[in-house]
Amino acid sequence: MNTLADILRRRIAHTGPMTLAEYMAECLLHPEHGYYTNETVFGAEGDFVTAPEISQMFGELLGLALAQAWMDQGAPAPAVLAEAGPGRGTLMSDMLRAMRPVPGLLDALDIRLVEASPKLRAKQKDTLSNHHVSWLETVRDLPEAPLFFVANEFLDALPIRQFVRRGQAWSERLVREDGDRFAVALTEPAPFAELDHRLADTRDGDIVEYCPSLPFVVSEIAGRIARNGGLALLVDYGDWRSRGDTFQAVRDHQPVDPFAAPGTADLTAHVDFEAIARVACAEGTRTTPMVSQGLFLEHLGITQRAQSLARAMPNPKAMEEHIAAHRRLTHPQEMGSLFKAIAIHPTGAPTPAGFET
Ligand code: SAH
Repeated sequence: MNTLADILRRRIAHTGPMTLAEYMAECLLHPEHGYYTNETVFGAEGDFVTAPEISQMFGELLGLALAQAWMDQGAPAPAVLAEAGPGRGTLMSDMLRAMRPVPGLLDALDIRLVEASPKLRAKQKDTLSNHHVSWLETVRDLPEAPLFFVANEFLDALPIRQFVRRGQAWSERLVREDGDRFAVALTEPAPFAELDHRLADTRDGDIVEYCPSLPFVVSEIAGRIARNGGLALLVDYGDWRSRGDTFQAVRDHQPVDPFAAPGTADLTAHVDFEAIARVACAEGTRTTPMVSQGLFLEHLGITQRAQSLARAMPNPKAMEEHIAAHRRLTHPQEMGSLFKAIAIHPTGAPTPAGFET
């Protein structure tokens, strides 16, 4: 049988060890064997549960934050509402429901979804059947218009490279074949300009990650916001500056070896929020401080929304689940502090909702 492992082993045998980014891209997006091409990835039945799948409150609050920015910026029409990596389409659907009462907003919006997986596109089409939406391959194809953008757990799926500090240079960690397994190989140390600034805060032997596509993704989004206005809300697993080996595989809600059975587990790495801010600034936009997801949702009024939904809970079991979902999204020991949020906005626009200090 031709598994993804066979394909990757053959490739390595022909062309030598591959970067972790190449390995990760193949595992996630290979057109035949990629994880997002094949698996039922989300929800209790899938491998992991994301914030919008935990509670409708997540999408509603993010939708209202975007609506507030749209009003603050003079209700531009037409405007683009875009999401990258929309999964099952739940976040977009909850955002649109929350936006409906805002006069003129839904009519002004041209809704675009950036999604690589055909299977998930079909699922999104189903979820959003009441709306006119269209799909894009990459953020580069977004129209040139005011851009109201959201991405949750999208940037952590972008492939990363890993480097180990050796003196004033870096050895890259590559994927090699080792019999019927994969293992890590190290390159000879060499300078790597993109990580020059990390020589100041790392020591010999430290691992630092670099996401080569992140600057392209962020500059496309920030460039549109700088030229046309808008707001981007980015929520993800990560921190300010990447530190250490955060490459991980999850299957069936459990961590697994990322090199065993490629294509069958979700692969992610922590997002470096400083890298987002650096690119956004270079494009002439501003970023908010990075805040924890818990604080962000509190500022957006999750407690009030939770109380109001609680009054409509049909039975004690639903009520119990509702309380657990609120806690899961916000509590520091759950998703509340592991996940972070940052916003990209035009210079001169008011501070986006949820980021007031
Ligand atoms: N935002 C959703 C899903 C997160 S999973 C949620 O919160 O539930 C990651 C999503 O990004 C999936 O929809 C996956 O198919 C998509 N994706 C991953 N890499 C991508 C890429 N390079 N281009 C476009 N979509 C990508």
